[in-house]
Amino acid sequence: MVIVMSISSTSEQMEAVNQRLAELGFKGQLIRGVKRIVIGAVGERREDEPLKSLALMPGVEKIVPIMKPYKMVSREARVTDTVVQIKGIAIGGENAVIMAGPCSVESREQLLISARWVKKAGAHVLRGGTFKPRTSPYSFQGLEEKGLKLLREASLETGLPTITEVIDERSLNLAVDYVDILQIGARNMQNFQLLRAAGQSRKPVLLKRGMAATVEEWLMAAEYILSEGNEKVILCERGIRTFETATRNTLDLSAVPLVKRLSHLPVIVDPSHGTGDRLLVRPMSLAAIAAGADGLIIEMHPEPSKALSDGAQSLNPEELNFLMQQLKRIIPAVGRKLLLSELGGVAHA
Ligand code: PEP
Ligand code: MN
Repeated sequence: MVIVMSISSTSEQMEAVNQRLAELGFKGQLIRGVKRIVIGAVGERREDEPLKSLALMPGVEKIVPIMKPYKMVSREARVTDTVVQIKGIAIGGENAVIMAGPCSVESREQLLISARWVKKAGAHVLRGGTFKPRTSPYSFQGLEEKGLKLLREASLETGLPTITEVIDERSLNLAVDYVDILQIGARNMQNFQLLRAAGQSRKPVLLKRGMAATVEEWLMAAEYILSEGNEKVILCERGIRTFETATRNTLDLSAVPLVKRLSHLPVIVDPSHGTGDRLLVRPMSLAAIAAGADGLIIEMHPEPSKALSDGAQSLNPEELNFLMQQLKRIIPAVGRKLLLSELGGVAHA
């Protein structure tokens, strides 16, 4: 149920609604849209009947039942698109935002070289894994805090905001001080403690779709973060497990327009993990933008053959540059804008 407040409602009236919700066993969660303010009634699934009396309270325009199990995430709660602001970069607005960088932060040199190429290619956000959720315990596990410090250094040098994956509360508490966006990976999409902690952190969160998650489960995971009061959530489609083994995952591009219809949250696409094959990254990036994605997150490495993780799906600097050149044409063709930073010709690190 959402309570739609009238344009002229006062903060006292909103407070009174919140109090009444608490008496009824719900938590009131404010959703401030461009045109209207609504209060989401968050609580255990229970009889909505008592909530109907809220329609009579001063300042309340109407109450709207939400049929979907995800309440605050749903389009019914907010008609206008959520735009997540990160250091002057708007994700979810008219821009298409490109995040790029290595799968793992491996060394100072590797990261700084990557960051310069990412900047030069005209991408907007630097990615780099510092806590790596690896299938094998014997694989490279990430530089942890040392890697976070390198991300901060690369950000200071290039001006690029940064994103890194957090895998538990310890890494989250460390990462909040170093990076601009927290990534919750496919393997942790249903780590509900972590989702709650990310919700309490108030940092922008990129929530990847679990490798075997339905769209509804993915949106319910996002609901955990919003229900803790953090609306700065960006969804990321990164491919799902199917019977097909020719690609690492099956990139579900239909999820992009579907989720944008079901939810007001921005949706971006990760064609690197979505395919596992660097030759498929560029075509699927272009297709993702054409399908309405609000951006992309791309793995690149100065020397993919030497990467400590995911080299096979990492673009080299020239390939990233070529992709950006093509995006420059595709993005306006589908009615979006590419924020121009330094989109130039062939980049030199
Ligand atoms: C990653 O971004 O490097 C990663 C591990 O992604 P995912 O959670 O989508 O597998
Ligand atoms: Mn990776």
